[in-house]
Amino acid sequence: MAGGCRTGVIWYRRDLRIADHLGLAAASQLCDAVLPVYIVSNWSQHHNWTGSKRQQFLCDCLTSLAAGLRELGGRLIIRSGPPLDAIRALLIESRAEILFFQKDPDPHGQRVEAALSAMCATMGVKVHSFHDVSLLGSEEVLTAENMPYRVYTPFSKNWLAREKPKPVPTIPSLRTPPDIASEELPTLATWGLAPENGPQLAAGENAAQQRFEIALHQRIGQYHDRRDIPAVTGTSRISQDLRFGLISLRSIAAELSDAIKSASPAERTGIHTFLKELAWREFYFAILAHFPEVLQEEFSPQWRGLPWDEPDEKLLAWQSGTTGFPIVDAGMRELHATGFMHNRVRMVTAMFFTKDLHYDWRIGESWFMQHLLDGEIASNNGGWQWSAGTGADAAPYFRIQNPWTQTARHDPEGIYIKRWIPELADVDARKFHSPPGNKPLAPDYPLPILDHDTERLRCLEIFKHHKARQQ
Ligand SMILES: Cc1cc2nc3c(=O)[nH]c(=O)nc-3n(C[C@H](O)[C@H](O)[C@H](O)COP(=O)(O)OP(=O)(O)OC[C@H]3O[C@@H](n4cnc5c(N)ncnc54)[C@H](O)[C@@H]3O)c2cc1C
Repeated sequence: MAGGCRTGVIWYRRDLRIADHLGLAAASQLCDAVLPVYIVSNWSQHHNWTGSKRQQFLCDCLTSLAAGLRELGGRLIIRSGPPLDAIRALLIESRAEILFFQKDPDPHGQRVEAALSAMCATMGVKVHSFHDVSLLGSEEVLTAENMPYRVYTPFSKNWLAREKPKPVPTIPSLRTPPDIASEELPTLATWGLAPENGPQLAAGENAAQQRFEIALHQRIGQYHDRRDIPAVTGTSRISQDLRFGLISLRSIAAELSDAIKSASPAERTGIHTFLKELAWREFYFAILAHFPEVLQEEFSPQWRGLPWDEPDEKLLAWQSGTTGFPIVDAGMRELHATGFMHNRVRMVTAMFFTKDLHYDWRIGESWFMQHLLDGEIASNNGGWQWSAGTGADAAPYFRIQNPWTQTARHDPEGIYIKRWIPELADVDARKFHSPPGNKPLAPDYPLPILDHDTERLRCLEIFKHHKARQQ
């Protein structure tokens, strides 16, 4: 360890790992003692964008991080309250001279960072902040005119061609001063949340690394062909790991570029397709950074002020998976049971919400955020605006997915549907490919709550009318 500074504080946020951690690596170079701190936020009084499943996963990740830091000889300090107050108190108590943190993509988080930097300046504390949430920063992938991209395809071509940053070495040990008090690790009770039933995904960086290794070594050769089939585990399932920074994108990129050297043609295709999916994630982070107004408004100005319908009892049917559209209901029940929904089905359920129910995408966006383990501000907003036809690189508003046809294409044998809707276990899967008429598919399964063809026409009318009014 180099001298010059006695103590540094690392503010852990959504980077809950030890491996390839820029803050830990820098702090271990510059400081003799390091205080890693996680500040438990009191979000529950401010918004409804978080729910029990994701908070439980967060708690488990913190437990795992605390154990990992202990193994290195350090300690995770837990504090609560507004971050500025908590960090000020810790800086004073520990007489720390440097604060390290990874930057947040969320505009609210960025405001906190600005206030924190100003506070540190008045306290004479140095600030080292790092970009970690995506592989490349929002200013690194720009058009030839130095402008942000508004469309995915040219962004992804530029992004794919660029050299990616390399991982930093993982630190071998850590010393945390013993006399600094810590609160208990949070539990759901900390936020007054009740536990939810359902399988718990293993949390922490080792579990995340294992998921990625399985995806890379067992699934990548079939990824291209199977990623759109919700009945199989054809995708990596690492989205929640990226959400909480359990695995670093730099090490993923390094492993992929190593793996491609000895890959079969199918594996090469898989790796390339996988990188293109990561590029979607990077694209949506860039959109959020350059156009933070997307969190409130339609990305495409021509669609601002669309007359969405007021939610009625059909909202409950969508939320609870009882719309009578098997593919929609299966997706919503998978989400409720596991905190995950397959990407193809996210598109189907979100398009059904905006284009069949004509509900405001912001309401669906917030429901997903409450229930998804991987609930990610940029990707969720991007996915919802894409589905609503209002977003960057939007499917033109007149491209409206038909849930029956989507079923025939992506779950022809109804395996996914039957897994999540036991009432339909004995129904011939071909019946999921078109509306059932007046007879329910099963005695305890509802008739469809709407007619897709009728609502499709209504959606086209709404968009066309709005467009005409704008001109
Ligand atoms: C309406 C809607 C809402 C969504 N909300 C979220 C969200 O809150 N959080 C989230 O991480 N993803 C979201 N997605 C994107 C996508 O559905 C998930 O990333 C994916 O299903 C995660 O599964 P996986 O890790 O097995 O993906 P894989 O297919 O293995 O992909 C690897 C990684 O690439 C990224 N990725 C893949 N597809 C997309 C995409 N379309 N947009 C952005 N990133 C992508 C993810 O980080 C993912 O983990 C949403 C998509 C839609 C249509």
